[in-house]
Amino acid sequence: MHVTHAESDIVIIFAARFLYGEGCRRRRRRMTADARAFTGRGMTSSNKNTIDQNRFDFIVVGAGSAGCVLANRLSANGEHRVLLIEAGGRDNSINIHVPLMVVNLLKDEKYTWPFMTEKQVHLNGKEQLWARGKVLGGSSSINGNVYVRGDPAEYDSWSSLGCSGWSWEDMLPYFKRMETFASGDPVKRGKSGPINVNQLKNFDKLADAYLDANREAGFELVDDYNDGHYEGSSYLQYSTTPRGFRCSSAVGYLRPARGRSNLAIWTNTLVTKILLDGKRAIGVECRRDDKTIQAFSRKEVIVSAGPIQSPKILELSGIGRADVLKAVGIDVAHELPGVGENMSDHPNCRLTFECSQPITINDVLQRPLSKLKEGLRFIFFGKGLLSICSATAHTVMRSGPGQNQPDLKLQLQPFSGKDRYARRPKDGLDPHSGFTIGIMALRPHSRGYIHIKSADPAVQPRIDPNYLADERDAATLLAGIRAVRRLVEMPSLKKLVVRETRPGPEVQTEQQILDYIRLTTQTTWHVVGSCKMGNDELAVVDSDLLVHGMEGLRVIDSSVFPTVPSSNTNAPTIALGEKGADIVLKAWNNRAVTTAAA
Ligand SMILES: Cc1cc2nc3c(=O)[nH]c(=O)nc-3n(C[C@H](O)[C@H](O)[C@H](O)COP(=O)(O)OP(=O)(O)OC[C@H]3O[C@@H](n4cnc5c(N)ncnc54)[C@H](O)[C@@H]3O)c2cc1C
Repeated sequence: MHVTHAESDIVIIFAARFLYGEGCRRRRRRMTADARAFTGRGMTSSNKNTIDQNRFDFIVVGAGSAGCVLANRLSANGEHRVLLIEAGGRDNSINIHVPLMVVNLLKDEKYTWPFMTEKQVHLNGKEQLWARGKVLGGSSSINGNVYVRGDPAEYDSWSSLGCSGWSWEDMLPYFKRMETFASGDPVKRGKSGPINVNQLKNFDKLADAYLDANREAGFELVDDYNDGHYEGSSYLQYSTTPRGFRCSSAVGYLRPARGRSNLAIWTNTLVTKILLDGKRAIGVECRRDDKTIQAFSRKEVIVSAGPIQSPKILELSGIGRADVLKAVGIDVAHELPGVGENMSDHPNCRLTFECSQPITINDVLQRPLSKLKEGLRFIFFGKGLLSICSATAHTVMRSGPGQNQPDLKLQLQPFSGKDRYARRPKDGLDPHSGFTIGIMALRPHSRGYIHIKSADPAVQPRIDPNYLADERDAATLLAGIRAVRRLVEMPSLKKLVVRETRPGPEVQTEQQILDYIRLTTQTTWHVVGSCKMGNDELAVVDSDLLVHGMEGLRVIDSSVFPTVPSSNTNAPTIALGEKGADIVLKAWNNRAVTTAAA
């Protein structure tokens, strides 16, 4: 049978839209008439009549991984009027919902912020593209969907950094509350939460060979790396619905909540600053189309705009480092030297291999018939390469005997190309069958910053992650490259390898490998820490996520993590949103009790 690319694309997109649309229609029928009037542009019309125009109890800025959780939980008991404000639009592209199709969005400015970093001094002077989600669901609508809670020891280390109440044991109830994971130990895993989690198992020949090679190399095979036993090698878990579609925080948390009459959702609305009355946050100023709008909070403004834009919003509001604010002509409302500092990300470098069999995404995307077959597999069974965004299996390990925690993660990706954004032939996907083993340094030592460079909210901030400034990070990646090369020499994987294509066998000495690392290291998109929690001089929020020295103002998103949770960062951010919502609700319940008693 001869099928062209265009024909296979049309069949897949049509069928996926039909299936997804069906799901949506069923959900819509369950929603109230009010909710059906959700416009996605401006205020939800359901709320126009019921909410006293622009006055709310809580205003949540940013509908990302954390923001959607807050919108749901804070509006759940019906007592509080909540406004959720999102700069992007609705998550109505099929490219968001069919996991593999997200490759079509990573450079689409309708759905992503195209942040560029400063030239990286320790990466041969190259700047980096950092795509972030600009849509309901935020980055959870465009991310790789890999579901990892991380290393218990990393959370436990946070208490020594002044974050009491954030140990693994403290986080566990929230990790459980957020998820539905059918298998796994019910003591450790959630069974009825908003985010559905699927476990890949015997996914394909390549991943099976990778895990067999891990066993041959002496790594322990771990059944469920999310139950507290992190180290070892495993098939990955994905945050996808039982039918295989993306389960973002917008899907899991916002959809069920958006019919509530006490929740307003403003999309396509950019928050430009927090309105202050002395040291108290009383609302926000926003821009929608060419109009300036204000919204006021009776209780709190909660900034959940993500690790790049939460510090930006604080600085635009006069909260931050005095020299940064003065340089752009903003009056200092509250000096807080840690805003925008302490930022980190997992540095990521990769080895690529030509594969001896046509079993990779390279083959699927370049052969219309394979694409059609995979499309039909997804449509009928919700499985196959379209049900994943990127990786299929990982190895969590230590770079050397001196490490008291795992500090390296290797990830198998069944495609190969010139860099991390090369996921389609037109972006540099290799024309031959190929796979990648990515390496991330899980506990990076380098720290960077994010600061505004203009008082104009439309101007991107200055972003310098300072990758590999600390030599230990490059040394960790070097150990990772050596570990990958050992793995592909194991009999199970060796038979699938034609040759190493990047960096290639000629790169052997320590210096050559380090040069390759500095030439090719990129983001893992796991940026955190720019409004860190703690009580030292660079801490921005306390353990209750309140901005130090301010009232009625919290930051609740991945920017508050003091270090990168030693994992992919979406699940930790959603769990943080859950715990943050509990903290906020308890604080206001306690106030109500105290007031009543008085
Ligand atoms: C391409 C990519 C792949 C990734 N892959 C994975 C993965 O496979 N697994 C994993 O665990 N993690 C992954 N991550 C990381 C993970 O998705 C993020 O760490 C997490 O989503 C961060 O959540 P957040 O709530 O802090 O910010 P975000 O989810 O980014 O949310 C911030 C929201 O605020 C909005 N906003 C910003 N400024 C304003 C403003 N001024 N006014 C109004 N709204 C505003 C944004 O548009 C956005 O919707 C990936 C990230 C990316 C970008």
